Amino acid sequence: MKINLLVSAIVLSSAFLMSCATAQVATNLTPDKINAALDEAYNKFKDVKEGKNADYIKELATVDSKIFGIALVTTDGTVYTKGDVASMVSIQSVSKAFTMAQVIEEQGHQAVQDKIGVDATGLRFNSIIAVELQKGKEINPLVNPGAIAATSMVAGKDSAAIWASILNFQSQFAGRTLSLNMPVYISEAGDNLRNQAIAHLLYAYGRIYFDPVQATDMYTKQCAINVSAKDLAIMGSTLANGGVNPVTKRKVVSPETVMYTLPVMAEAGLYDDSGIWFYNTGLPAKSGVGGGIVAVCPGKFGIGVVSPPLDAAGNSVKAQMVIKYVVEKLGVNPFLIQPK
Ligand code: GLU
Repeated sequence: MKINLLVSAIVLSSAFLMSCATAQVATNLTPDKINAALDEAYNKFKDVKEGKNADYIKELATVDSKIFGIALVTTDGTVYTKGDVASMVSIQSVSKAFTMAQVIEEQGHQAVQDKIGVDATGLRFNSIIAVELQKGKEINPLVNPGAIAATSMVAGKDSAAIWASILNFQSQFAGRTLSLNMPVYISEAGDNLRNQAIAHLLYAYGRIYFDPVQATDMYTKQCAINVSAKDLAIMGSTLANGGVNPVTKRKVVSPETVMYTLPVMAEAGLYDDSGIWFYNTGLPAKSGVGGGIVAVCPGKFGIGVVSPPLDAAGNSVKAQMVIKYVVEKLGVNPFLIQPK
């Protein structure tokens, strides 16, 4: 009896402590604070002129450089926006994080580690040397070789089924049916010999798991999916929420899949500046040459920013500035630990 009482007391007091912790998180991130942080970030960085649209994919050079949208979606499904969240850009490499999650979900985390790799290459995102040095091993799904390999691992009986499944997964993360930016797809598909070379070299090492030409084509399509800053934020908040889309309330992937996806985003999400990014924000993130960045604050929110001009590393200049500012302002770097 005494033991039962003791157990109940412990259960009750730990429930109380947990509710305090939840309340504390909730009070820290009030709507006012979030709106103020987004407003300030927008006004502070809207006139930044640094950076330049990607042009190695010709169509990307024609995208309006002035598009600037910020969205933050909390794990309770509240959407905060500032600026242009209606304009869409091609998702490019941001898609890699979500296809990685899809493959982990379908085949398990060990398959991704064994058949692709999860190490940072330390080389450029489209490096052929990275593949050659390790004979196709020890790459990760967030650089082109690993991303094409991941695409080749998606379940489906033929390329049409695999592509439909990829688009469906990305759409579930975003909570709406996404579609292809055809001019961007055509522009890149006509000029992606380097990615085809990467896929063939991987294939020669037995590290592509579908026809390499079709895998590269599906990868190119995946990169040409159109998204807004709001789409990116909802996609990120689905990861932040353990794989359940907080807006649609639908499960997309398991919490374990998210657990294995975020560390790779932390180590390799922002090209050669991934370390600098993680050092400064503590947030797993993924950028793309279309000008989008998504960052994930585990358990709290996803943030998506779109602004096409990129720095020398290939990351959106304004998107990095905004997210870093918002993280500092809200005090949500997960490594900022208040001593007991
Ligand atoms: N589709 C682009 C490529 O393969 C994606 C690059 C990126 O956003 O990093 O080159």
